[in-house]
Amino acid sequence: MDFPFDIYDVADKIGLVLKRQHNKSADYNCPFCDGIGKLNLNVEYNAYRCNKCGAYGGMLDLFCKCTNVPDRKTAYRFLNATSSDDFSIQNREQRQATVSSIKEVPKADIERLDFCYRAMLDELEFDTPHKWNLLDRGLSEEVIQENLYKSVPVDTYNILVDKLLEKDCDLIGVPGFFTDVNEEIRVNIHNHMCGFFVPVFNEKRQIQGMQIRLDTMDTKRKYMWFSSAEKMNGCLSKSPVQISGDVFGGNAIYVTEGALKGQIAHFLSGKPFAATAGVNQQKELETLFQRLQRESQCKIIVDAFDMDDDTNEHVRRGHQSLAWLADKYGFIPKRIVWDRRYKGIDDYLLSMKNNGGI
Ligand SMILES: [Zn+2]
Repeated sequence: MDFPFDIYDVADKIGLVLKRQHNKSADYNCPFCDGIGKLNLNVEYNAYRCNKCGAYGGMLDLFCKCTNVPDRKTAYRFLNATSSDDFSIQNREQRQATVSSIKEVPKADIERLDFCYRAMLDELEFDTPHKWNLLDRGLSEEVIQENLYKSVPVDTYNILVDKLLEKDCDLIGVPGFFTDVNEEIRVNIHNHMCGFFVPVFNEKRQIQGMQIRLDTMDTKRKYMWFSSAEKMNGCLSKSPVQISGDVFGGNAIYVTEGALKGQIAHFLSGKPFAATAGVNQQKELETLFQRLQRESQCKIIVDAFDMDDDTNEHVRRGHQSLAWLADKYGFIPKRIVWDRRYKGIDDYLLSMKNNGGI
């Protein structure tokens, strides 16, 4: 169906606050959870999704949820009748031209991702303050080396591409790389990105993607994906699940959020962990559960998401979604609870270790 308005027009009508404009989408403050810049509106599909609370849907749903309009049909009639001025039509045409000029590419296969990311990490250093951060969180020197954490380069990222091309890396289709207006391959790193790469491994220890752990005091925006979504010849990371330990071999696996947290919790406990990027980002977890159902003896899914569900409704919903998802694929959903002074399973395990408990 051709709409005489798009999702940005809807956002204007319901007064959403724009925080960041990208090529094919824009980040607004979320009206459902008040997440600052967390609601991503995609103008190509006229759909929204919140990276914090997980709310999602189409633009007519968004309009209904934020107004007292009862259904999509009524919303369409109302928006149609009020979206006719020349100025908004012109804006919309410009937006459509931008969207159709940006062509993303499919993500490379796992072998190529692993090859290119390893080649890239091999060129980078790991700064001492970053290493101290990981030692403080309970990892050993050995595991820090094995997991290939590396600092985001500050000035040298442009020569990085040349080095990777010399190493025969085929970078188009690798999230994080794209082409600029001169059709030169670029890496999506900027000077304001200070932090370190956290490689996200599958069960064969192949690197499926990378997160960047930012050096920021803002506890709510500490992680981002190394991605080149919405850039020419770029692609999305698609939020792969970090696998630590023998997830396919035992009868229970633990699920937490955050690749690094999963890696630390596995190291401290020896248990198999699957880690999603966020408590409400469970799409790839569903794919994993389908595989576990077919290929493993796993019977129990242990919820090890954060313990702040007493104060955070989004975490509360994440726990519920996980239990529901585990049950859907025939697993027994269980939950591990610990002292609420320690929000994450990694913090709790570290306190146990430091107190001689494990
Ligand atoms: Zn939200």
